[in-house]
Amino acid sequence: MRVKAASICGTDLHIYGWDRWSQGRIRPPVTLGHEFCGVVERAGEKVAAVMAGDFVSAEMHINCGHCHQCRLGEAHICQNLRIIGIDEDGAFAEFVKIPAANIWRLDPAIPEHYAAILDPLGNAVHTVLAGAIAGQTVLVTGCGPIGLMAIAVAKACGSSTVFATETNEHRRAMAKKMGTDVILNPAAENAVARILAETGGTGVDVLLEMSGNPTAIQQGFKALRAGGRASLLGIPTESVPLDLVNDVIFKGATVQGIYGRRMFQTWVQMTALLKAGRLNLDPLFGERAALEKFEEAFARLQGGLAGKILLYPNGLPR
Ligand code: NAD
Ligand code: ZN
Repeated sequence: MRVKAASICGTDLHIYGWDRWSQGRIRPPVTLGHEFCGVVERAGEKVAAVMAGDFVSAEMHINCGHCHQCRLGEAHICQNLRIIGIDEDGAFAEFVKIPAANIWRLDPAIPEHYAAILDPLGNAVHTVLAGAIAGQTVLVTGCGPIGLMAIAVAKACGSSTVFATETNEHRRAMAKKMGTDVILNPAAENAVARILAETGGTGVDVLLEMSGNPTAIQQGFKALRAGGRASLLGIPTESVPLDLVNDVIFKGATVQGIYGRRMFQTWVQMTALLKAGRLNLDPLFGERAALEKFEEAFARLQGGLAGKILLYPNGLPR
């Protein structure tokens, strides 16, 4: 694949900062980058499904095809998962090599900047569509890029009131632009009391946990109605104490861990939503930069101010 645009993920920031997780997981030298779109430059001899010139993105989680889960059709939780851009050379480069089975051919109607962020958008779509959403009240805890996308997806799929919590002011403003009905700053007000008051004391039907923050997770469960669904995508860096008796068992709550994107159900759903023009993700996009300027781009993201920054290894678009 000749990379057109590659987007910087929160995981790339962790690796760039070389935190404990990165030190344990990354085996340098490796080229990072797992959110991208590009054009097929050359296909292997036995590849039939894609051709040179195709506009594509890809599922960067490579599954083994033979473990227990793979055989059950649950490739996204394969026991032998490898990730391009983490375990193997990724898309912060002019070219990236990807197994044909992982390529996702794109309708040319999908704009290039959207095509570059299908990986995190897929995380959002997977989480939102992991249960009923139409007509449901929703709480999104954490409005980073994926939380922001989840707000747009929930709205596009017919959710009713969407509440969101976020401690960062800049991101609260973005959440508003993405269609949040009630945006709350849990550092300044009692978010749970507010949500209960606004739902007649019932709580929300659906919790989409997008922060990984222990307090946000606990508040999310408190704001969930009895019989509700909690879908957890955010990755905490420590164990999180939960009141299982009151917040899960007596509530009869359904709790789901969400990992990656379903292969390839999520991709089908996501492209259908984009093609129907249902998702306006424009507020998300920050700057575009040539790949050589990556240091400035990472610095801006570390400051928490930029939206999605796209890097262009083969020259900026005109
Ligand atoms: P992010 O770190 O940019 O966003 C998290 C947001 O949560 C930030 O805006 C932060 O200000 C906010 N936050 C922190 N404390 C909060 C609190 N107490 N209340 C409300 N909001 C709070 O991350 P992202 O890239 O948007 O990803 C979201 C989460 O999903 C991260 O934890 C990431 O590691 C995880 N993730 C999981 C998967 C998966 O497959 N499960 C895939 C990608 C990312
Ligand atoms: Zn497997």
